[in-house]
Amino acid sequence: MRKKIVAGNWKMNTLLKDGMELAKAVESLEKEKSSDTLVIIAPPYTHLSRVNDLIEGVKLSAQNCASEESGAYTGEISPDMLVSVGVEYVILGHSERRAYYGEDNELLNKKTKLALSKGLKPIFCCGEVLEERESGKLFDVIREQISVGLAGLTKEDMDQVIIAYEPVWAIGTGVVASPDQAQEMHKFIRDLLVELFHQEVAENMSILYGGSCKPSNAAELFANPDVDGGLIGGAALKAEDFLGIVNAY
Ligand code: PEP
Repeated sequence: MRKKIVAGNWKMNTLLKDGMELAKAVESLEKEKSSDTLVIIAPPYTHLSRVNDLIEGVKLSAQNCASEESGAYTGEISPDMLVSVGVEYVILGHSERRAYYGEDNELLNKKTKLALSKGLKPIFCCGEVLEERESGKLFDVIREQISVGLAGLTKEDMDQVIIAYEPVWAIGTGVVASPDQAQEMHKFIRDLLVELFHQEVAENMSILYGGSCKPSNAAELFANPDVDGGLIGGAALKAEDFLGIVNAY
């Protein structure tokens, strides 16, 4: 059975003290939540170890990881290092990593496989830019991102993966995909998983929507049969808004 999940991507926001306060607030609101939704937060690297000591019901994610196991890779953080401070999930392929740091589908495939081999659960992001949607290439783009990014994964690997569909034109813009646009792409992704992997992989996969999701629009997005929750940016920086989205189920 697939899980309902709401994950918060804090990006490069909050200093340690504010981040710890935010994590504590999310943890205490999570205890009062009205559903069985899994709640995940992805603070900056510098906060992970300290935040891990403050949360129990809420799960911990990193926003990225290295593509190499260890060694002379100045500035990189390995999957093993993340696991050693209590991290369970890792966001991979966020559009900001793709656009600003040149992460392509092949590199993301390498990162995904390494993360899985170390016991991290990838939150694998995909999404088209506006021109790709307007020129009708959106399904080809998502097919390429998923078929290359998740190439070579086994059915067992796929049980550990979460997919986030994040149309780039909706991220941080205040322009949210309509419930029909989200459902159409989530259904496409689920059908693609049948084709690339197995019916069971598709049925069990949690596919999250991301892009300007707020407490006021979450319920209609999450009401779609193929939308299993959200990956939240801006609204994850206020505990009440973030839990407002969780409680939208
Ligand atoms: C994101 O960056 O993953 C995201 C969904 O951002 P926002 O909610 O701010 O659009």
